[in-house]
Amino acid sequence: MAREGVKQINITMAKKTHDIIRKAWEVEKTDKKLSSWVLEILLLYTEKEKWLKKYAPHLVYVGIDKNGILLRDRHLKDSIVEVKLLDNRLWCQVCKEKNCMHIFYSIGLSHIAKVVDPERDIHK
Ligand SMILES: [Zn+2]
Repeated sequence: MAREGVKQINITMAKKTHDIIRKAWEVEKTDKKLSSWVLEILLLYTEKEKWLKKYAPHLVYVGIDKNGILLRDRHLKDSIVEVKLLDNRLWCQVCKEKNCMHIFYSIGLSHIAKVVDPERDIHK
């Protein structure tokens, strides 16, 4: 019987994905159950995405390149801005610096985890 004010979803995932999530949960050493911990992360992710839209409404994530993130900047006439990971530092190809709004926005994106530094590619 469902409890009032509570909804339930079941999520099916690959064993590999489950193992990655479970290992991260174990490393966290939290008192929360795995499901509660995952739910909290999903809520935080949702809130973070909303926050990024308020923080930089002129920026939009476009995609990921081999070693960088592509953004569209309405303040630059909808130009594409490339933020590259070079020598373990993010570098804005438009502003030619490492401390601009494009960098800060990129760090806030979850997609940053997929960017690979060609000089330090641990997957090689
Ligand atoms: Zn920039």
